[in-house]
Amino acid sequence: MAVAFSWPCKVSVAVYSKWGRKVLAPRPNCARCGAPMAFDGGYPRWVREAGKCYSVFVRRARCRGCGIGEALLPDFVLARRRDSTAAVGAAVLASAGAVLAEGSTSLYQGVPARTVRSWRHRFAERAGELSRFFEALAAERGASALPGHLAGAPAEQAVVAIGRFWQAAHRRTGEVPPAWFLANLVVGSGLLGARVDLPWPCKSRHICRSRAP
Ligand SMILES: [Zn+2]
Repeated sequence: MAVAFSWPCKVSVAVYSKWGRKVLAPRPNCARCGAPMAFDGGYPRWVREAGKCYSVFVRRARCRGCGIGEALLPDFVLARRRDSTAAVGAAVLASAGAVLAEGSTSLYQGVPARTVRSWRHRFAERAGELSRFFEALAAERGASALPGHLAGAPAEQAVVAIGRFWQAAHRRTGEVPPAWFLANLVVGSGLLGARVDLPWPCKSRHICRSRAP
């Protein structure tokens, strides 16, 4: 199965879209054998954010040894979703007790209510798994243990775990993407996907970029 490699992108979806087929992407190492992969064409796809649809070109890489192919997804893209990482994040986080910047709801304006409900439902469904996963990553990075059992719905607990992981990564690494983006990078753009799957370990060199929230 082809896997997705999510990478921290320095520009917005609007700017990335304007680059067309000239987009740059990092060249990853093969997840199976560790050899540097080769670029292998790409494909166009749509990304929707703040009521606009952008056509973006996603580059692909392939391992010459194993034959494994990967889509190199900029971090504003969610695997198998048309709406951007920020759009889905704003909708999911708002319903899970997070305090967001003013105007965040405009990121998913025009998205059908049933689609927004499906994101929130998907996130809530996986919340227990995500909580355990991100708490473990936070602990690995030196976060202190939670004092007892957290109150709140499972989705709220998952958001707390993502926040704790982000804080621990930030302390350890310095500059990291915003929490929702970082969480998405770690799970290979599949925060709402079928299961938590780590296609590559969370290494500081992958999360060394900062972006205004
Ligand atoms: Zn390989």
